[in-house]
Amino acid sequence: MTPVPPPEFDAVVIGAGVSGLYQLHRLREVGLSAIVVEAGSDVGGTWYWNRYPGARFDSESYTYTYSFSEELLEEWSWSEHFAAQPETLRYLGFVADKFDLRRDIRFDTRVSAATWDDDTMRWVVVAEDGFRVEARYLITAMGPLSAPVMPIIDGIDSFEGESFHTARWPHEAVSFEGKRVGVIGTGATGVQVIQEVAKTVGRLTVFQRSPNWCAPLNNGPITEEQQAEIKATQAEIFRRCNASYGGFIHDSIREKTVDVSDAQRHEFWEHRYREPGFGIWFGNYRDVLVSPEANQKLTDFIAGKIRDRVDNPTVAETLIPIDHGFGTRRVPMETGYYEVYNQSNVELVDVGDRPITRITPAGIETEAGHWDLDLIVFATGFDAVTGAFDRVDFRGTGEGTLKETWGDGPQTVLGVSTPGFPNMFTLVGPHNAATFCNMPRCIEQNVDWVTKFLVRSRERGDNGVEATHEAAEAWTVHVHETVERLLLSKVDSWFNGVNHNLTDHPPRVLLYGGGLPLYRERCDAESDADYPSFARI
Ligand code: FAD
Ligand code: NAP
Repeated sequence: MTPVPPPEFDAVVIGAGVSGLYQLHRLREVGLSAIVVEAGSDVGGTWYWNRYPGARFDSESYTYTYSFSEELLEEWSWSEHFAAQPETLRYLGFVADKFDLRRDIRFDTRVSAATWDDDTMRWVVVAEDGFRVEARYLITAMGPLSAPVMPIIDGIDSFEGESFHTARWPHEAVSFEGKRVGVIGTGATGVQVIQEVAKTVGRLTVFQRSPNWCAPLNNGPITEEQQAEIKATQAEIFRRCNASYGGFIHDSIREKTVDVSDAQRHEFWEHRYREPGFGIWFGNYRDVLVSPEANQKLTDFIAGKIRDRVDNPTVAETLIPIDHGFGTRRVPMETGYYEVYNQSNVELVDVGDRPITRITPAGIETEAGHWDLDLIVFATGFDAVTGAFDRVDFRGTGEGTLKETWGDGPQTVLGVSTPGFPNMFTLVGPHNAATFCNMPRCIEQNVDWVTKFLVRSRERGDNGVEATHEAAEAWTVHVHETVERLLLSKVDSWFNGVNHNLTDHPPRVLLYGGGLPLYRERCDAESDADYPSFARI
């Protein structure tokens, strides 16, 4: 047999968001050559694509920031507790410049297929424009929320006004002044768009199919004093995040709802409701996300807040979810969202009962009537977690594609590797703690773990390593156990792969519910034991 020349690169990374950028940096550090292939025209991932008005963090900026470089931490200062998208995009551009990352990134290149070659023991990666590259390792950094979904509505292409999906927002400014704007979708994105558009719009119509439980973001500028405090305690901030269940600065408290009196509970929740960020969700009594009774109490408290804030009682009731409790779907964080419905130029149309029937050249028709519109915003979400994978023809050692392999639900080891797909690593993949996390905290863990694995693999002189079926079965059982105890497992949302516009896969467990510390412990046990869940091929 003719000896095969070494591959062009040690690794191909798909995606140049928070994950891909850090992965490239780490590969370089350990002396592995890499190329990043990115569909967008620049770095940033989520923050490159989601340019819709109002897009911003719901993680505290200084907890979302990379932790790996002291110098970077010193040089970059966030202006707000929850930075808006343009600032985050600037930050990721700053990181790319500082570490000279762009020179190894091929932009405007959407990967369409990746095939493992058993003879050469390498991945052959092909893009839509014909670009082709081979590498020993394939690392996906394609994002959990990067495959936007449009609604299935008759006549959607006939609309003669402007229309945009929030994750494909144009780079030029879009004006709403004097316009009749319709928004479909009231998840975290829809809520951010609605409260921003309402500031300048002529007339706003929100087509709401299902309300969500929202809570105040309580954002504000970071004062000089606060900045000094953040800089002085940044290491402690990261330590707290890494020790918390969700990688946030907020973590559940020791007490359960039943351990305190009604009055104490009420006071605590009042306090949380006025505090910045996810405290009301992740910094709550430890039973509110697992016990239906505890959750109902919190849900009633939040419903009361909505009733207080919305003037029209009928509108208030339409905004209150009745099919799930607070925190069992991703909580949209808001700033004056409920007060928008007190504006005389804003109308809430309930399309849960009387659905949208079609989109016409002039606007949106529901069973209740027709609304003339100049602009439609589709805040209709994503094919979450597995969507970006399903859009690439990944083929490993077996017959089927990765999409087919995961057809009945993902089967992975630690959410980073799948049997039958050697030398392939899935950052923020399904069944990985990073999917339910203040993501950069988990992303850094993912990337560091994969990098360490590759270094060890190089040391051992491996050609190929593959997750074993036994280990994947055990991990999948563990993942299901961690998720099933959470109330969110019983509710339709992207957490469970549900976007009602998707018909090609059933609801399934996509998250890891054990939390960051347990996940890290499991990952560390695997590396400390020299990777027993992987076979050399
Ligand atoms: P992404 O940022 O999604 O990057 C993936 C990249 O891969 C994209 O640039 C994409 O173009 C590229 N790609 C995908 N498929 C291909 C392909 N086939 N070929 C080539 N390139 C490809 N998380 C938080 O923790 N806190 C927040 O406050 C927060 N806010 C969010 C706000 C919005 C609007 C959204 C949508 C998500 C938010 N998230 C938040 C989640 C966010 O996705 C993560 O924080 C983080 O950005 C994920 O980084 P990533 O690099 O893993 O993926
Ligand atoms: P989403 O939560 O999936 O919400 C999609 C919305 O579109 C839902 O309200 C859905 O209604 C509605 N919808 C879809 N098709 C429809 C149709 N045909 N008719 C009427 N309504 C329709 O998506 P998202 O809001 O983009 O958020 C996704 C995730 O991104 C968030 O959960 C969060 O993790 C992340 N994100 C974070 C932030 C942040 O604050 N940092 C901001 C935005 C997004 P149904 O529920 O009835 O299907």
